[in-house]
Formats: sequence, C-alpha cells, structure tokens
Amino acid sequence: MPPLVGATLDIDDVNLANSLLRNDKDWFKADIVKEYEAAFIKWNGSKYAFAFMGGRVALSACIYALGLNPGDEVILPGYTCVVVPNAFHFAGINTIYSDIELDTYGLDVSLVEGKITPKTKAVFIQHLYGLVCRDYEKIVALAKKYGLFVIEDCAQSAGAIFKDYKIGNLGDVAIYSTEHSKVITTVQGGFAVTNKEEFALRLKEHYDYAAYPDKRIVYNLLYNVIVDYLVQKDPLRWLKAEMFLFLNRDKIFDPITKEESCGVKPAHYGCKMPACIASIGLNQLKKIDYYNERRRCTAKMWDKWCDDNMYKKPLVLADSVPIFLRYPVLVEPEKKQNTSWAIKELGVKLGSWFISNIHPVNWKVAGCPNADKAVKQCVNFPCLMKGYNDQENH
Ligand SMILES: *Cc1c(COP(=O)(O)O)cnc(C)c1O
Repeated sequence: MPPLVGATLDIDDVNLANSLLRNDKDWFKADIVKEYEAAFIKWNGSKYAFAFMGGRVALSACIYALGLNPGDEVILPGYTCVVVPNAFHFAGINTIYSDIELDTYGLDVSLVEGKITPKTKAVFIQHLYGLVCRDYEKIVALAKKYGLFVIEDCAQSAGAIFKDYKIGNLGDVAIYSTEHSKVITTVQGGFAVTNKEEFALRLKEHYDYAAYPDKRIVYNLLYNVIVDYLVQKDPLRWLKAEMFLFLNRDKIFDPITKEESCGVKPAHYGCKMPACIASIGLNQLKKIDYYNERRRCTAKMWDKWCDDNMYKKPLVLADSVPIFLRYPVLVEPEKKQNTSWAIKELGVKLGSWFISNIHPVNWKVAGCPNADKAVKQCVNFPCLMKGYNDQENH
C-alpha cells in the first residue's frame, strides 16, 4: 500500500512539473507567486496571504507579525506536530500545553482559562482532520476577554466553513499547509493569512527578508510531484512504485528532518515560495473544492461504518461544513498499534496522526489525558482513494 500522500495530484500536475523541470528560466519570477496568493485570498475570503515554504514557516512569520517576544507564552493543544512547538521555540516562546476534547480533537475551552498567566500572549487553535474545532468561537471569545492573540492552524482543514466564513478568518492570523499529505499539495509549502493590516505589514516585512530555497531543493520538490503521483495514482503503480522509490531514495521528500525531530532549526528553514512551486499550487487550487466534495462523500461511508460498528463519529459542529482531509475515529489501542486489519477488512491504509503528543517525537506532555487517549486510539481513514471515488478521471 502506498503512503497517503499526493492524493490531489493528477496527470496535469505531473505534466506541469515536467515542463517546469525542463525549463528553469522563470523558477523565481515573483508575478506568479502574487497570482497564487491572490487566488488563495479570493478563495479563502481573506484580505492578505503570503506564500512560504511550509505551514511551519508561515507560523514563524505569524509569530514575527504578532510581535511575540522571547519569554512570552502560547497555549496550544497537547496533541500536535513537532514543527508547531518548534516554530515557537525557535523564537524563544514558551509552549504551554492544554488538553483537547475528543469530539473534534481541538483545544477544550474549559481548560484554557486555567493555563493563562501574565506571560500568556497567544492561543493556538488547531482544526484537525478537516473538522472545525468544537470550541472555536468560545476560544476566540476567551482570547479577546484576556487580550490574547489567536493563531489558527488550518493546515488540515483548508476550506472548512464555520457559519458564513472559511476557517482562518476569525483569529488574528492563520496558517495553511500544502505539504504532500494535506488538502492540496505543492509537496512542501503553505500560507500565512490575516485580515488585519497591521499584521499584514509585518508579514510582508518578514516575507521581503525571506530567501528562496536553493535550486537543488526546488528541483527535488518538483520531482516529488511526479514521485507522489507515480506512487499514489499511476495506473501501473503496483509494478513501478517500489522500484522507483528505491532508485530515487536520495530524492524522496522528508517532511520532518532529523534536526527538526530534535528541536533544532534546519539551515534552510524560513524560505518563501518560488514561482515554479506556486505554479503547481495554482493548478492545485483549481481542484480544491472538487476534492473536498469527494472527501465529504467518502466521509458518509465512514459515518455508516462507525454506526455499523458502534464507534463514535467525529462531531460536525452545527453551522459548519467540514472537509474531511481524513476521517478520525477512536478505536481499541490494539487496532491503532497494528492497522493491518483495515487493509484486510476495508482495503484501505489507515493514517495514524498523531502517534505521540508532539508527533512524531516522544517529548513528554503532562496533564493532557484526552490527548494521551487520542495518541493511543485515534486512527484516521482516508477520504480520497481509488475505488471509492473516481479521482483519476478528474
Ligand atoms: C502539517 C501540519 C503543520 C505544518 O505544516 P507544514 O507545511 O508541514 O510545515 C502544522 N500543523 C498541523 C496540524 C499540520 O497537520
């Protein structure tokens, strides 16, 4: 079974990547990046967006934009990816973990207030698996009451709607990811978004100082568009994928580097997006609503599976439209430890976000029993896969 990446890549993306690989003349031409940002702004209903080389880099830009200082504290869920606390730690900010609820795996608002100290400056809201987090409005209201900034993490939920807006528009700043396991993909990439001019000016300042990744890295990312398609969707992938991966092992994209797993800032960290990667992003953005609709259709099938098998379905908040990047379910711990049952019984490969409180590393997080439970029991079903919906013909 191939890894669950690049699910929104089609042959047109591969052709585009191939033509970009053949012609590197305009790889760093800024206009297309502006076009990509403008398209995202329009689609997301936000005022400002800046394209960086990853959601984590966008988060670092947001930390700068908000003017957070060393010694400040941020409250974030004790159920997250290591690159999130890393971005705070790189800026000298102390991460204070608070427990999640198990309806949508977001921060539990009733516990957040108890974590606020005079040093607290921001609350970090995560919308996971394509869901809108349960206590969204209440956390924003609580933050307002205490004069705290709200940073929204929409890395897994781009396009999810709450009331009349896409998520990411209620807080002060928001981050999005187009890493290869996310809603759409540029293999690596992301956005920092805001509706407030003061933060936009600071984001722009940060953006203007940021470097582009070097040509070798850009080449590898374009190449990985082709790799991901071949492994995931090529009609002959069963024959080709393993050999191809083996032959190209030195080029395969690594989402979390060894340094990052140790909390160390990588040398190339902090880059903005070059034009050729933005070209892929623009092409992907055209399909985002199509693929999110397919995901919602597949989620109905997983709803039925949950009902039939007496598992609790994830909560879809009233007045929200989720996008179901993945479909999360709490199963017995043995069923998370060994997920081969899903391949046998259902023909799908399960995802395991998150395998530890600070995925995928083993940093200790105290006092988050719900997060601990999710680590042991939350698996996620894919919502875009061959056989269940006919993405190949898109
Ligand atoms: C993927 C992810 C990130 C980081 O995004 P990158 O583009 O990989 O840097 C942050 N938060 C969450 C919840 C994610 O899933």
